[in-house]
Amino acid sequence: MTNPTVENLVIIGSGPAGYTAAIYAGRANLKPVVFEGFEAGGLPGGQLMTTTEVENFPGFAAGITGPELMDQMKAQAERWGAELYTEDVISVDLSQRPFTVRSSEREFKTNSIVIATGATAKRLGLPSEHQFWSRGISACAICDGATPLFHGANLAVIGAGDSAAEEAIYLTKYGDTVNLLVRSDKMRASKAMQDRVLNNPKIIVHWNTEAIDVFGNEKHMDGIKVRNNKTGEETQLHVKGLFYAIGHTPNTSLFKGQLELDDVGYIVTKPNSVETSIEGVFAAGDVQDHEFRQAITAAGTGCMAAMLAERWLSSQGLIQEFRQQVENNELKPQQEEKTTANTEDDFDIKATRHLGGYALRKIFHDGDRPLMVKYVSPGCGPCHTLKPILNKVVDEFEGKIHFVEIDIDKDREIAEQAGVTGTPTVQIFKDKELLQELKGVKQKSQYRQLLESII
Ligand code: NDP
Repeated sequence: MTNPTVENLVIIGSGPAGYTAAIYAGRANLKPVVFEGFEAGGLPGGQLMTTTEVENFPGFAAGITGPELMDQMKAQAERWGAELYTEDVISVDLSQRPFTVRSSEREFKTNSIVIATGATAKRLGLPSEHQFWSRGISACAICDGATPLFHGANLAVIGAGDSAAEEAIYLTKYGDTVNLLVRSDKMRASKAMQDRVLNNPKIIVHWNTEAIDVFGNEKHMDGIKVRNNKTGEETQLHVKGLFYAIGHTPNTSLFKGQLELDDVGYIVTKPNSVETSIEGVFAAGDVQDHEFRQAITAAGTGCMAAMLAERWLSSQGLIQEFRQQVENNELKPQQEEKTTANTEDDFDIKATRHLGGYALRKIFHDGDRPLMVKYVSPGCGPCHTLKPILNKVVDEFEGKIHFVEIDIDKDREIAEQAGVTGTPTVQIFKDKELLQELKGVKQKSQYRQLLESII
């Protein structure tokens, strides 16, 4: 669908850089269009969606979780009139003005663009990686750490930066021992994080150690083949889970050949600025920053990008102002959700939504509608992303299905019986038979079509 008007500003990306640019551009009456992304560059909200506590974002003395921080920024961007689409941009044409930005659903012409597409977690590419992906290997400790199989097990993390340190510490909540494989003889993580790692009795650091492959049975990984790169000695490390934390690659494939990129693929910006090689196109956050890569610096450059976009539009006489009604700037109230698991006293089989293992057992045996079960874990960013998507679908099927949410940390036994190996996972049953399992976050239409096909 092509929109005939020309937008002031399209923002591509939705981490701290994209949302901050949206807040500033919104408050400047530019009514920015934001493509939050869906899966192309990770999750909407960016890398903070897969972190736990953010302890260094100013203003949150007690810390805040990454997903909560992103929720707040998103709500603030919406409050100031940003138009958000949870869609991936599939092409950008910077060769003609106004520029064109396209997703699979819509197309916009725009006078300026802020690129805040961030960076994606790297994989190692081990020979058996594909076979054991989600069967032990994961790129997100926060999403998959609570998996029952990892409880009391030996686990491993590869990397030596802040992410590796954070993940190793987090996994000690679940694993018996966490092996940190560091390819050199030093860690790159901040001193504070290194101290926490080195002083944690459940973490064993293996210096000068590289993974060369993973082994296991047809169901799950059992361990890693490792090599000491000083002595060349090869050994086996028996672990049930392996978590990658080896850095990121900038998400710039859309701009190759159109904008100046550096050797590694980061967008080149002018010194002390966020201007790119094309006037009216700005880059903010990790997509142009391989040095600091912090939420606060991403937000800072997002602010700069929006302010420079406004200045540039104004200097070219291109601004179209959208005056906002003050009353429209009220924050939308958050939906109240059920937070305590159903018990014998408050369980009602006629209700559509349920929480916890008691309800699931009752519905599984006595329910007469198709059953959708969502498995989540605390602090899991993708679970956070899935929530509003599935909420809408469940609303559409009110009275026609049963929906049960299971926290795999609280209902471990159920998660184990269901064979859940990561979160979020959605299982759909009819007449006690498992018809479909969907791992991760899918488009609303996919859940909807599945339910329609069995009702
Ligand atoms: P980094 O790029 O900082 O670190 C990547 C690590 O992975 C390095 O230690 C690197 O080793 C190692 N590595 C890379 N490739 C391989 C490989 N093939 N085999 C083995 N090891 C490999 O990435 P992070 O994701 O840790 O951090 C990114 C940014 O985000 C940083 O600026 C960090 O400070 C920030 N961050 C901050 C957090 C916080 O403040 N709470 C939490 C998480 C991240 P080597 O050192 O040998 O190159």
